[in-house]
This record gives sequence, C-alpha cells and structure tokens, in this order.
Amino acid sequence: TVYHFGGDAPHDDERQKDKTVTGGKGANLAVMAGIGLPVPPGFTITTEESVRYLNEGEDFSDKLRADVAEAVAHIERSVGKKLGDPADPLLVSVRSGAQVSMPGMMDTVLNLGLNDETVEGLATSSGDARFAWDSYRRFIQMYSDVVLGLDHGAFEQAVEIAKEDKGYFSDTEMEADDWRAIVDEFKQIVRRERGEPFPQDVEAQLWGAIAAVFESWDSERAKIYRRLNAIPAEWGTAVNVQAMVFGNMGDTSATGVAFTRDPSTGERAYYGEWLVNAQGEDVVAGIRTPQYLTRARREAAGAKLPSMEEAMPEAYAELERVFDLLERHYRDMQDIEFTVQEGKLWMLQTRTGKRTARAALKMAVDMVEEGLIDEKAAVLRIDPMALDQLLHPALDPDAPRDVVAKGLPASPGAASGAIVLDADTAEQRANRGDAVILVRVETSPEDIHGMHAARGILTARGGMTSHAAVVARGMGRPCVSGASSVSINLADRKLRIGSRELKEGDVITLDGATGEVMAGEVPTIEPELAGDFGTLMDWADRYRRMAVRTNAETPEDCRTARGFGAQGIGLCRTEHMFFDTGRISAMRAMILADDERGRRAALERLLPEQRSDFAEIFRTMAGLPCTIRLLDPPLHEFLPSRDEEFQELASDLSVGVEHLKRRAGELHEFNPMLGHRGCRLGITFPEIYEMQARAIFEAACEVTGEGGDPVVPEIMIPLVATRRELDILRKLVERVAADVFEERGASVDYLVGTMIELPRAALMAGKIAKEAMFFSFGTNDLTQTALGVSRDDASRFLGPYVEKGIYQRDPFVSLDIEGVGELVRLAAERGRATRADIKLGICGEHGGDPASIDFCETTGLDYVSASPYRVPIARLAAAQAAL
Ligand code: ADP
Ligand code: MG
Ligand code: MG
Repeated sequence: TVYHFGGDAPHDDERQKDKTVTGGKGANLAVMAGIGLPVPPGFTITTEESVRYLNEGEDFSDKLRADVAEAVAHIERSVGKKLGDPADPLLVSVRSGAQVSMPGMMDTVLNLGLNDETVEGLATSSGDARFAWDSYRRFIQMYSDVVLGLDHGAFEQAVEIAKEDKGYFSDTEMEADDWRAIVDEFKQIVRRERGEPFPQDVEAQLWGAIAAVFESWDSERAKIYRRLNAIPAEWGTAVNVQAMVFGNMGDTSATGVAFTRDPSTGERAYYGEWLVNAQGEDVVAGIRTPQYLTRARREAAGAKLPSMEEAMPEAYAELERVFDLLERHYRDMQDIEFTVQEGKLWMLQTRTGKRTARAALKMAVDMVEEGLIDEKAAVLRIDPMALDQLLHPALDPDAPRDVVAKGLPASPGAASGAIVLDADTAEQRANRGDAVILVRVETSPEDIHGMHAARGILTARGGMTSHAAVVARGMGRPCVSGASSVSINLADRKLRIGSRELKEGDVITLDGATGEVMAGEVPTIEPELAGDFGTLMDWADRYRRMAVRTNAETPEDCRTARGFGAQGIGLCRTEHMFFDTGRISAMRAMILADDERGRRAALERLLPEQRSDFAEIFRTMAGLPCTIRLLDPPLHEFLPSRDEEFQELASDLSVGVEHLKRRAGELHEFNPMLGHRGCRLGITFPEIYEMQARAIFEAACEVTGEGGDPVVPEIMIPLVATRRELDILRKLVERVAADVFEERGASVDYLVGTMIELPRAALMAGKIAKEAMFFSFGTNDLTQTALGVSRDDASRFLGPYVEKGIYQRDPFVSLDIEGVGELVRLAAERGRATRADIKLGICGEHGGDPASIDFCETTGLDYVSASPYRVPIARLAAAQAAL
C-alpha cells in the first residue's frame, strides 16, 4: 500500500499516521502535512511492503508498481515538474523510516532523478549551473554508496584532490565547471568499479533506491542495532519518496536540525544547528562546522558566524511558529529537520527527540507545570534505565584535572578508561572486563557495538547532532565530540591529544557535561538527587503499589539505598560479613575444625562481630523491615588457597599445615552450586545458624532497646527444597529467639521465611508456606536451576542463544517470564492458598530490571528488592507497572 502526503493529499486516514504502518518518518510527515505545516509532497510505501519484498524473493508486485506510478504522478502534479523531464526535472529523495528511529541505520538517497540530460535542464530552469552540478555529484555519490554498494572513499578522495589542485579550502569554493569535472570522474569510478555505467534511466534509479531501502532492513548494521534494542525483524521499514527542496541554492537557502528544547539540559530554549547553502546531511556529517540556530546560543558560545535568527529572521520566525505547533500537537520535545529554499521554510522530519536523563526529567516536570501533560504521563515518559545516567557518580569538581583537550559536551556523565581506537578492540577488551574509551575521528553505524562496549566515546570531528553524539546520548554513554585537537594514527595505534602523545591502552577521562578530556583517571562524586529527580520520584511513589527494598549488607550500602528511597532490606547476604580481615581466620577455623566443639569455639569469636554488624544495619534502617539470609555459599569458598594463607592459619590454630590442607581437600565438591550449601549447612552444622540467629536477635533487642522504631527482623533460610528442611530450621530459630529473649528480658517481633530458588520449592510452595511467613524469590538461583544453566559458565553460549532468539534477553538480566516466571506465579498462588497473608518479594538481580518488575506487579508481589543504585529505577518501574 502507498499513502500520499503533502500537496492536495488528504491526511484523514488514521492508518497513515500509525508508525507501525508508515514508519516513524512517514507517519510524522503525514501528521505535519495534516496540521498545515509546509511539507514537500511525497508518498510512503508501507512497512508491510518491505517485509513482503524480503520474504517473497525480492520482487515488486504489480500492485505496488501501479501504486507507485500513481503516487509519482501526484507529486508531479503538486510540484508542476516531471520525473525525468529534460527541460525541468522533478527530483526526489528516497528515505527509509522504520517504526522507531534508528539513527543512521538506514540510508537516504537525495536528488534522485538527475542524469546527464536532466542536469542540464535543472541548470537552465534554476538558472544556477553550479547548484545543478553540485546536486548531480551528490546524487551519484549517495546512490553509488547506498544502492550500488560502492565505497564512498574513492569519491571523497576525488573531491579532495580536485580542491587541492585548485587551491580551494572549502567545498563552497567549487564552481559549476569544477563540479561538472567531478561528475565525469565519479561516473568513471562507477564504470570502473561496476563494469557498467551509472544508471541514466530515472525509473530504474527510483526502483533501485526503493529496493535498497527495503534491503537495508536486513543489513548487518541494522541487525546489530535491532539486537541491541530488541527490535523485531518483522517490523520492516517504510520507504518515503519526497519531492526535493534545496538548501544549497545560494545564500537565501539553508538546512538545519533543531530541538524544541535543549536535549542535554532540558531547558526550555530552542536549540539547533544550521548551515547556509548546504544540503541534507552536511550538518550531521560534520563536513562543515555548523552554526548556532539562536542568537542567545551564538553569543553564549562567542561564535562569529551568524545564527539563523540573525541571518534569516523571517524563516526563523516561521520556524518558531512550527516549534510551537509541533510541541502542542505531540506534547513532547521534538527533533526536527528543516530546509530553507530561497527564503521559504520546508519541514522534512519531526520526531520525539532523544534526550539525556537529566533533560528527560526536567522536560517532564516542566511540561506538567505548563499543563501540557499530567503527572501520570510524566511518570510513564521516563525510561527507568535512563536514570542510571544520573545515579552514577560525576567527576569530583575539586579533584585536579589534567585537561588535555576540549570538545563538545555531547552526552553527559563521566568515564575513565583505557583508550581503544576501534570498535572491535573496544568490544574485546570490554568483554575481558576492562573499562575502555573508544576514540575515533568520527563514528558511524559500524561502530555501534564498540560504542556499546565502551564506557565513553571521544571523537575528533562532528557536532552535537553527529552520529556519535546522538547514539551516545541514546545509550547513556558519556561522549565528547568534535575534539579537533585529537589526531589518530591508526597504523601505529597512537594518538596525539593537544600537545600530548598517547597510545592505545593509556587511561583518559571524559567529562561529557563539559566536553573536557583529561589524562589519567579523575576521582568522582555522588550525584545530586533533589530537584526534578526528587519531584518525579515523588510522583512515581504516588502511583506505585509494590514496595521497593534493597539488597545490601554493609551500613554504607544501606545508607546509599535509603538515600535512594529504599523501604527496607530485601536481601542481606551474611556471608559477605565473614570476609573482613580478622574474621576470615575465625571463619576458616570454624570450617576446618575437626568437630562440633572446635566449630563452636570459632563461632564464639564470630558472634560479637556479626552482632555488631546487624546492630549497625538495624540502626541505619531505623525500623524498616530487614530480611537477613543465613549462611548460603558452599563452605570451601572461604578456604585459604595460597600457601602463606595456610601457614598463617596453621600457626594461628597451632595445628600442622598438612593437616589443614587435608581438611580443605575433604571439602572439595564437584558441583558446589548444587552441593553442601544453603540450608543444608544449617541442617548438618546447626551451630552455624544458631550463632547467626543469636547475633540477629541480640542485635535486634539491643537496637530496639535504644528507642526509636522497633526492629522486626525477617530471617530467611536459603535453598530450601522441602517443607521438612524449613520445619527443622524454623524451630531452631525459634529456640534461639526464646533463649535470647529470656536472657535479655526483652523481645522483638520477627518472621521466619524462605527463599524460593529451587523448582521443587516453587512447586511445593503450598506445603512450604505452612512453615514460612514469607517467600523471597531468589530468581538468580531459580533461573540457574530451572534452566539448568550455570550462571558462571553461561557467557559462552548465552550470546548466540539471544542472537538466535532462543531467549529474547539474557535470562539472568531479565526474567524468563514464560518459564521461570511460571514457577514464580505458581509458587505465589500456592503459597497464598495456604497462608493468605504470606509476604512475597523478589531479591534476584531481576528486582532491578524494569521488565521483570512489571511481571512482579502482575503477579501481585508485595515488594521488589534491588541493589542500591537500582532502587530509583525500581521505584519508577514499579510505578509504571502499576499505571
Ligand atoms: P536520516 O534518517 O538519516 O536522517 P533522512 O531521510 O531524514 O535520513 O534524510 C537525510 C538528510 O536528507 C536529512 O538531512 C534530510 O533533512 C534530508 N532530506 C531528506 N529528504 C529531503 C528532501 N526531499 N529535500 C531536501 N532534503 C531532504
Ligand atoms: Mg532525518
Ligand atoms: Mg541463591
């Protein structure tokens, strides 16, 4: 199907404004034309046609051919020119446009319809031969690149050489005859590379371009982007064919991109870049340095070249009117492409603009104040994962900075890492766990995987709307673009930044908020969480049903999490408390003891340490619920490994080294994750859990006695598979509680519950609930045991599994809702059937993942628990899930 837009076309068919049908670009062109904005006439071939084309052996249907012919005729009537007319040709652009914007993924061909004949016609009809030949050479280069698959390097080189020969500095100095000569050379390049001439038949040009857009949907780089962004292949891409308007017709013509608000800060100020006498991609490609759109910005930057506001006041005033109409229509910040042809403004694209997290918050809060949207819309509008950008530390303003270069502040945040000079290296090193900064002259879609792997991105060329800047903002990576003092020597893997010689592997730091590049690593500080962030989080809390807790075991993590709004601890892993110096030797003595007496003696040493840990945590959490998990990992994780460690321990315990090593050897397990761990430890060495329970109750009594809200510990038994296990251990805990309360003459309320992290436990949840006052879904182990996939060994095959769509996402990151989720649902249901008021929560990594949180809401869990930095993400995601 084909839809017309612009000219006298009607725009009342809702399907035409539906992105899933006409793609983002096509739908928005129709909307703009529909609200009366100046849009060059054109038509959209639906996304469905591209899927059909790709599925049915890359052939066009007769119906499509007829529809396109009719639609071309509509453009011809509207513009009053004909495609291929040697006297006065119509030129069109052929543009792709998927449902969601995929920056730079799909290619556009401009100036289609030019050939050796029509170029002469264009020269005569426009009265501007330079313009005509300039357009023709642009067309040949783009068409050759996008449709014919030739490398653009040869073309660019030809232009560079010509300019050098002539002693020109910039493209604008090239004259009509210079471009004509370039066209000749370009045609030769095509003939040489392809063995056939550049296509002169305009119909063939058009269909070639349409086919290329269709096929680009299945290009490698489009596939990578789709995979990274979980975009299904079935969506397909639409094709837009649109009458050309020309920004390169002299000094009253221009092209630009603009945002209705500042995409970095969110400030309510128009923001954009433009170029006089230029076409299409010149602004984005970084070939010429663009000028500021508004006078205020130009003055603030101290730039000399005039802003559009100053140079073209009328067209600019029209543009401001358009900004206003568009924001009111879409009720969101718009990212716009426009062209001015001989003083007249034309709109070429609008879409909801990408923004930094900070800007997203500010815009959402401002728009509520402006009455453009309501609180719920504001809450729904923020991508929870994007908050990550704000929650992480920024550079310490007081730390010394060895600034070696300055570029544009293209995407905020701070990052340090080793320099890498290409995307593949970035990916390899990141996979090994290194922090890397990708440094490129400029980035292109082929670099996406490397940008994703890098902590930050630095480019030598390109503006605030360059590929690097747009993609980095979308990914939340700090980016400094256009740092022109960076020059890269790829052959030697070296680079020069300002006066400094550096090499791949050297550490640098980027500040994406200022554009500074620093040598070495610069320390960071905690983010500011008041202001718009606080406002939006308050709104989120208003609509949220589930509570949000944190996974924390140190007082410091507890404080961080409370600062982020955690309402309790969902998982305190006690084993982490045994690794501190001083404690580990007592722990080792306990593990290696020959009998219960030896173990008890060592545990005596650990008791006061544990008690003070818990007391400190209870104080920090001030009466909020705290779920504490008793010892879980296999004991040998605590054992010494190095000889010196054994020696030290041997002298500490006054036993022989060989004896200790033999004891350690006895603890070896073939499959420790399914071995002697979790509640199995409590069953076989009850004294361990007794000590822990005692420490918890003593601390709880102590802190409750200090006044303030009473402490209500929730004691959690891990890795339970059967009711009987929990029965035994619950009684153990109750016995200890009774002892402590009697000794102290005080008592506290407490709960005993279990983790549901084995499939058997999920299935038997109805019985287990007889013993458990709460369940906490330990979805890390539950995923591991349900899928039969070892978390620690999964990296070798999970990548390909996700690529092939066997799992949509890494099941350790985002809950496998279909499978593991079914176990959670069953367990919740059966648990509630036994004990109506059983408390249900989740404490796996998934508790901080928005899609998994959405599932928890649907399943009716009472709370999710996430690592401290994920708490705000979880609060927002929980609100969105409830709305
Ligand atoms: P992308 O999605 O990469 O931005 P576009 O289809 O928007 O690709 O086009 C690339 C560039 O060409 C943009 O700057 C756009 O404004 C410009 N352009 C597209 N169509 C036309 C047209 N009909 N007339 C003038 N410029 C155009
Ligand atoms: Mg565009
Ligand atoms: Mg576990």
